[in-house]
Amino acid sequence: MSDTKTEGFRTILENARTELTNGSRSRASLAVEATPDELDRIQEAGDREYTVWNLERDTNRLREVREALRRLDSDSFGICTSCEGHIVLKRLTAVPWAALCIGCQEDADQYAAASGRDGRLQETAA
Ligand SMILES: [Zn+2]
Repeated sequence: MSDTKTEGFRTILENARTELTNGSRSRASLAVEATPDELDRIQEAGDREYTVWNLERDTNRLREVREALRRLDSDSFGICTSCEGHIVLKRLTAVPWAALCIGCQEDADQYAAASGRDGRLQETAA
């Protein structure tokens, strides 16, 4: 991949990292706010659940973004971490922190669905 292109991705990824870092912080402070009213408490419990789920998702995304930046530093950006094939530019443009090529991602998704690891929302609600 050309330097111009990787530098473009670096900017995108660094912006995403900043956004995720700041976003997590403001939502975390929102989650600990207490209200005396019962209805508000119920509402807040739902919000908190949603916030926790969001935080978890953002934490995962932040990890992916950081790993992508590391791959940029080690010149392995755009290389699938599973099969070491090239990740097509179209996919990187849509998902700059993608660690897997389309084929490996589909395999991983299928594995996640089969092993029930995708049921994070239900797990939180239960
Ligand atoms: Zn692959």
